[in-house]
Amino acid sequence: MTATDTHCPYCALQCGMTLTPEIPRVRLEPRDFPVNKGGLCAKGFSAADLLDHRDRLLTPLVRKGHGLREASWDEAFDRIVEAIHQAQTTYGRDSVGAFGGGGLTNEKAYALGKFVRVSLRSSSIDYNGRFCMSSAATAANRSLGIDRGLPFPLEDVAGANTVLIVGANPAEAMPPSMQYLEGTRFIVVDPRRTKTAAGAHLHLQPLPGTDLALANGLLHIAIREGYVDADYIERRTTGFEAVAQAVTAYWPGRVERMTGVPEGRLRHVARMLATEGPAMILTARGAEQHSNGTDTAQAYLNLALALGLVGKPFSGYGTITGQGNGQGGREHGQKADQLPGYRKLDDPAAREHVAKVWGIDPDELPGPGRSAYEMLTDDRLKVLLVLASNIAVSAPNSNRIRRQLEKLDFLVVSDIFLSETAELADVVLPAAQWAEEEGTMTNLEGRVLRRKRALPPPPDVRTDLEVLAELSRRLGREESSDPRTVFEELRRASAGGIADYAGITYERIEREDGIFWPCPAEDHPGTPRLFADSFPTPTGKARLLPVVHQDPAEMPDKAFPYVLTTGRNMQHYQSGNQTRRVKALTVALPEPRAEIHPDLARRHGIADGDLVELRSRRGAAVLRARLTDGIRPDTVFAPFHWPGANALTNPALDPHSRMPAFKACAVTITLHKEG
Ligand code: SF4
Repeated sequence: MTATDTHCPYCALQCGMTLTPEIPRVRLEPRDFPVNKGGLCAKGFSAADLLDHRDRLLTPLVRKGHGLREASWDEAFDRIVEAIHQAQTTYGRDSVGAFGGGGLTNEKAYALGKFVRVSLRSSSIDYNGRFCMSSAATAANRSLGIDRGLPFPLEDVAGANTVLIVGANPAEAMPPSMQYLEGTRFIVVDPRRTKTAAGAHLHLQPLPGTDLALANGLLHIAIREGYVDADYIERRTTGFEAVAQAVTAYWPGRVERMTGVPEGRLRHVARMLATEGPAMILTARGAEQHSNGTDTAQAYLNLALALGLVGKPFSGYGTITGQGNGQGGREHGQKADQLPGYRKLDDPAAREHVAKVWGIDPDELPGPGRSAYEMLTDDRLKVLLVLASNIAVSAPNSNRIRRQLEKLDFLVVSDIFLSETAELADVVLPAAQWAEEEGTMTNLEGRVLRRKRALPPPPDVRTDLEVLAELSRRLGREESSDPRTVFEELRRASAGGIADYAGITYERIEREDGIFWPCPAEDHPGTPRLFADSFPTPTGKARLLPVVHQDPAEMPDKAFPYVLTTGRNMQHYQSGNQTRRVKALTVALPEPRAEIHPDLARRHGIADGDLVELRSRRGAAVLRARLTDGIRPDTVFAPFHWPGANALTNPALDPHSRMPAFKACAVTITLHKEG
């Protein structure tokens, strides 16, 4: 049996693994790839369980009354195309749209964006990365001129001395990455004492939604203590004076009152970042998934730039991507406002370039569409195609999302299992899995990797590229379903853009253990490290921008007195559609646990293991309580891998990125009486 080197189907680390088809099952072994160096987490080790899982969708399903029945591909396609025609004839082109995912390969993300804009001629497309990376991406684009999660290889983290990690829990989300923090002194900012925080040199526990104030407070101290790098600021940045002025209001005593982090700790962290370098600042969803997420990411960028960290060895600012192809997924055109190569849809030159590759007139390209939550809750959307996303569980205010999905004239879901979203569909398409098709992924470092086919898909299962090509054909346009052909076109479409893949080939990826974009030509080595000499902004300098703290869109009050924050557990991934079906993972963590401080629990008569009801203005969820003094007494934590947590979350949107406020909303807590 042939062994195939490929990558994990889950998170953005994209650990290397080898698959060997054996009878009766596929053998999965870790592989010594530069990011994981032979390590895998429990999710990766058990990933082959997905391939022959008994819940696997093996044939198309179509709605019949209240249920779904098996159907042929022909019938499924007929129904979809008829629904598209009917909606577009009656309501216009934008009434039909698509929702993609950060788990799609680059080829599929590219093909989906092209399908919507060219075959459907609709502007209605966005993807779940809007709920994930969009705030950090917006901040990086406006400040650094480019958005690549880590602008350096992961191995550079190991060379840092001090690492400030804000709102991330890599020890649970991507355990093999912790090897890079071993020799560093890392500081964790998180309202919970997570596994990562427990191993940190320092743990700061701010109130959720106050990360921006904390960053401004650190910069205030850095300026007062003379820690900032005046020469770097002068040579490499613009906007420092306005930022310095803005942070005068963030004196340590005030920041302590706003965040709950003692003044002494703030001073300690500012000193470490400035004097115990090389230093790095890494943010993630805990800081970014807020109604002020973009400004919060900007505040940490301001701090990193003022300290002169960005573009120096083992130093800098980065954001830790979560989803497997969260990075590539936002570069190739499935985002409402973007075209391949990270081009802007409202930029005439970008439209012209991409339209030429696609063989259409630039005027035929629709304009930017609505962001994810706005599109999903807009009654003008009548037909929706969902790929690789379980929005009935993962979108904010999920009860409202479910109602909207039920209201659609027609919902199509392509997935490997009957997810909570697929259960609502009119047509469900059985999709090929990660190990059954070819494609590329771009990991959290901006390293483009090859995901390879180790075995064929089951007989009546199709790849998303095949589905999109067939739908296009029935809509009057020929498209390729071959991943390599699609990638060759993606290379041309991205050429000259910010995320330039022109020089990346399948063969090079294979030979060179992945290639970092931008890579504009086949003789270009790729770009593992950005910003050494300049920034891709009009001035060549990074922009500091003044940002001020704003309370979360929903604050605790008498009626809803506590803050809910959401996040991950080690054993599960995203909405849990895959990991909730893997025995080893569900045995280790069978159900969601609400983390509650013992003082708060006592006040409500709650004991460890009791069922509790969390209620927000939007919905309620019942979870089992896990009492821990590792969480703030005013804050409750719920994981988002099961239905429930997002029934509570607040869909208030960041004005810049349109990111919903997943990480802070107001809730009540009560003991749940069973029966
Ligand atoms: Fe897969 Fe991420 Fe675990 Fe690596 S860390 S094995 S990529 S889930």
